[in-house]
Amino acid sequence: MTTPKTREDWQQLAAGLSLRRQAFIDGRYVDAASGKTFDCISPIDGRVLAAVAECGAQDIDLAVGAARRAFDGGQWSDASPRHRKKVILKFAQLLEAHADELALLESLDMGKPVNDALHVDVAASVRCMAWTGEAIDKVYGEVASTGRDELGLVTREPLGVVGAIVPWNFPLLMASWKIAPALAMGNSVVLKPSEKSPLSALRIAELAMEAGIPAGVFNVVPGFGKEAGEPLALHMDVDGLVFTGSTAVGKHLLTCAGRSNLKRAYMECGGKSPNLVFADAPNLDRAAKAAASGIFYNQGEVCTAASRLFVERSIKDAFVAKVAEYGQRMQPRHPLDPGAPMGAMVDEGQTRRVLDYIAKGREEGGQVVIGGERLQTVDGGCYIGPTIFDGVEHGHTIAREEIFGPVLSVIAFDSEADALRMANDSDYGLAAGVFTSDLSRAHRVARKLRAGSVWVNYWDGGDMTAPFGGYKQSGNGRDKSLHAFEKYTEVKATWINLEP
Ligand code: NAD
Repeated sequence: MTTPKTREDWQQLAAGLSLRRQAFIDGRYVDAASGKTFDCISPIDGRVLAAVAECGAQDIDLAVGAARRAFDGGQWSDASPRHRKKVILKFAQLLEAHADELALLESLDMGKPVNDALHVDVAASVRCMAWTGEAIDKVYGEVASTGRDELGLVTREPLGVVGAIVPWNFPLLMASWKIAPALAMGNSVVLKPSEKSPLSALRIAELAMEAGIPAGVFNVVPGFGKEAGEPLALHMDVDGLVFTGSTAVGKHLLTCAGRSNLKRAYMECGGKSPNLVFADAPNLDRAAKAAASGIFYNQGEVCTAASRLFVERSIKDAFVAKVAEYGQRMQPRHPLDPGAPMGAMVDEGQTRRVLDYIAKGREEGGQVVIGGERLQTVDGGCYIGPTIFDGVEHGHTIAREEIFGPVLSVIAFDSEADALRMANDSDYGLAAGVFTSDLSRAHRVARKLRAGSVWVNYWDGGDMTAPFGGYKQSGNGRDKSLHAFEKYTEVKATWINLEP
């Protein structure tokens, strides 16, 4: 079938979709042990898409048990790197072959524009899987520097059973960043998708099996954080816990690891990323466009959203006018409209949260340049227009807390030192950007910004070749690149006595 081109095409495809609603444990779709389900609601129009299995501690136990048996059985964990590579590459091909369906699931489930889901989420998930698969048989151990009478080998071994808990903003991509390196290194995985976006994870479970991942190696347990996520985090037979989500939950999960079996625990958390625009930026028009898409893309529901815009005072008013012009062009439309620049917020709760922040921004003295309102883009749906606050002060709530919505705070600065001071004065340190033509300043500022990713003269660069993760309360560990393998392996030193 050719890729749908119009909203009607996508709607037709949606009408024929058969959704996976059950958990995937030990190679089979099963109901939750309790028989309970929860409604999976589309924020596009408030429609119930499916009643999905609501997993709890008993289901987690079954999934972890299956994962452990599969790991100990060795069919995957002991398979040659060449075999695992072949299977993961096949998995990537299958994701690509089902790209339209997966993109549609993402869009229906969490409201993002279907074109973005197709060309960003699914495309990047395929690349993640393929890149990681390709890397498997290129990872070597080390030989320690020893005297002549001994041999020291440093090797990497899989952790065992990995629990992965992921958010709803890029459901498939965040899951791929975890499961690709986890499976590549020979682990078994129990994936808990967000209760707000379980559909794509449930669908890819059977694609993984079709690719050749043995039963029990990859399990998916939909459910809520407290009821399904927490038993996974506390499970005594889970060796590694990897998480992407909010800082508050990430901190809590670290305590779960400590309270249980000291499982390896890696948290990728929130952000409040600063974007520094100097008057000498090479192209202010392009910088303004980047500033707008940096915050409004994916409805602002992006961990690296460029939510704090620091602009040199001499150009501030003219620059904000340009950002506003680009922002106005990004109004939300029906997410299945292939030209939609923005779609729906993930749900009512998130919509209200963002509107509360907008109210707070007004209360504290910020001036709304554009937006600031809920929109009735589609009846029953959750839509907020691109919103820009000018005249924000560094101490204001909207300049400090992660809003996770299409709300930009503009703050003027007078000097490089001033900009850096405010940019770094944050609990977060996920990403940052700087726009300038001065090469030395670009390097100087990039070096001083306390963030895991820094972009110069654009926003959100990067691919699988470089690690991604945060400083400070934005998390620990890194996703993507060969560095990701560090989270999914133990390092072993083997010493051999060579004396005659
Ligand atoms: P969240 O922390 O509310 O939920 C994330 C996941 O944790 C969900 O699956 C949820 O069910 C689960 N969870 C919630 N409470 C739990 C508990 N007590 N025990 C176990 N699991 C629990 O985050 P969210 O709203 O889904 O996602 C938005 C957040 O994710 C933002 O803060 C965003 O910045 C962050 N994020 C970070 C990155 C990154 O790479 N650093 C990427 C995307 C999103």
